[in-house]
Amino acid sequence: MNTAPLASSAPTGPSAPTTSSAPSAPTTYSATTSDVPVQPAAAPAPVGAAQPSALHPAPVLSGRRLVMTYGPQGTATHALDGVDLDIARADSLAVMGPSGCGKTTLLHVLAGILRPTAGTVLHDGTDLAALPDRTRTRLRRSDFGFVFQDGQLLPELTAVENVILPRMLGGVSRRTATAEARSWLDRLGLQGMHERRPTQLSGGQAQRVSIARALAGRPSVVFADEPTGALDQTTGQSVLEILVESCRDSGASLVMVTHDTKVAAICRRTVAMRDGRIAQEFVRPDAQNAQATQDAAVTR
Ligand code: ADP
Ligand code: MG
Repeated sequence: MNTAPLASSAPTGPSAPTTSSAPSAPTTYSATTSDVPVQPAAAPAPVGAAQPSALHPAPVLSGRRLVMTYGPQGTATHALDGVDLDIARADSLAVMGPSGCGKTTLLHVLAGILRPTAGTVLHDGTDLAALPDRTRTRLRRSDFGFVFQDGQLLPELTAVENVILPRMLGGVSRRTATAEARSWLDRLGLQGMHERRPTQLSGGQAQRVSIARALAGRPSVVFADEPTGALDQTTGQSVLEILVESCRDSGASLVMVTHDTKVAAICRRTVAMRDGRIAQEFVRPDAQNAQATQDAAVTR
């Protein structure tokens, strides 16, 4: 369980803005399939098998034999058809696959937004389904952050207000939440834009507000569903680098749905889905960064 208190009295945002926006990812990859340009793990995991992370033994989230069926029998859609997946601490995971293969459903099930038809999601070893609704909602607020394709900022609120709202719903005082929000917005390059409403921001700036909102509560997992799908490629790539880097810095695991192989290549690990199953899994060979970040996450 994340030991961070729900209502902290001290700002938990970053203390010093960073100036670099370059990811610490290496520059060379070799393509192993036509659509996923990352190298397979030295000892590839059997397809569909949940593997304890080699980097950290206790995953922050584990999906076990996840099945999600929509609709009545006969016309049912099997969006998830037996998915096993572990999310390691402070890791970055790209989820790829064609439209309709179950990526969004998987994210929502892992985040406890949707209850699976069958199977279990364990968060730090606790079965999400066993928690009362209120506890699960509180857990989502305190431990999970979300970045959606179109940002989903509230149009009538300023950038700062959008970031502080979920924090205040989680019991954090306005003063503390505002200090955190300003710190994150500055860090994400939005100095001078704190009081702007979403319509007064570019798509990339709005998405950075969403990232600030997702990270302000120091979640242990950030879920991003095609977070740059609505942006042009250059803006999207820079927002992505900021997202991956910010998650690394704060020790959050990132689970990101993307269609973009360049985007997936920023992540340490990629799973490719087909028809509700994990069809392929790849791990980038340089696990060093992830190890250092995971060590930091354990002691944060
Ligand atoms: P992806 O994100 O990979 O495009 P989704 O998880 O959104 O895929 O959807 C997986 C499958 O489940 C698709 O066939 C989709 O039509 C179906 N589906 C998703 N949500 C619902 C729903 N609420 N009701 C019925 N079918 C759904
Ligand atoms: Mg989707």
